[in-house]
Amino acid sequence: MTFSLTVLGAATPYPAPDAACSGYLLRAGATKVWVDAGFGTFQNLQRHLEPTELDAIWISHLHLDHSHDLQTAFYGLAYGGFALKAPIPVYGPPGWVAKYFGEHAGHFSDMTDVFEPHEIAEDWSHRIGDLRLSVCRVRHSQPAYGLRAEYEGRVLVYSGDTAPCEELVRLAAGADLFVCEADFDSPEQRTHLILHSTPEEAAGMAQAAGVKKLMVTHVAYSLGADVATARAAAAFGGPTVTARDNETHEI
Ligand SMILES: [Zn+2]
Repeated sequence: MTFSLTVLGAATPYPAPDAACSGYLLRAGATKVWVDAGFGTFQNLQRHLEPTELDAIWISHLHLDHSHDLQTAFYGLAYGGFALKAPIPVYGPPGWVAKYFGEHAGHFSDMTDVFEPHEIAEDWSHRIGDLRLSVCRVRHSQPAYGLRAEYEGRVLVYSGDTAPCEELVRLAAGADLFVCEADFDSPEQRTHLILHSTPEEAAGMAQAAGVKKLMVTHVAYSLGADVATARAAAAFGGPTVTARDNETHEI
């Protein structure tokens, strides 16, 4: 059965004309999960499925380049004439409902008509059909999670946004595909508020976790995805690819 990842966007911190921010579509057999909803990803999602087909939405953290299109999706699904059979379960970090659907959000419909809200905690895990999801807390400036998805013996791990961390290495152990951010050119860019990894640090985590393949994502425009991928590949020494919008990878 199919187990695949489609890149809906990999840009940060803003979308370019042909590049959406962070988002992925995970397909495992008949199960479909939208992972991260950065700017532009609801648009790209519609190239691959009807949004009403989603079984769940999962959000790594509440920075806008990973979560903004929750609002876009709400507008589409609440007012756009889609025939939604039941509210879509959304698994997000603590506070996502208040941030996007609090009393000043100004929506005309009730959020729960469209989304069934759930919050992620450190030990969160969940099963949708035969797809198993679990998380770890990663190192970012606000509560942020890495995701492990397992289906028929194959494993995908997604870093979300993070500085290098042991928790993510453990989560990624033996993964067939490790999708890791490589935002920074140099570790010196790191501050207590801005926490990301370099291509070499992404490669170091991939190596330590013994993953089979590395996908480089969430690269700053100033660094460039091709340069970041080449640097990560040299440091990792194994198969390394770039996350490109609307490309699908079998896991
Ligand atoms: Zn972030």
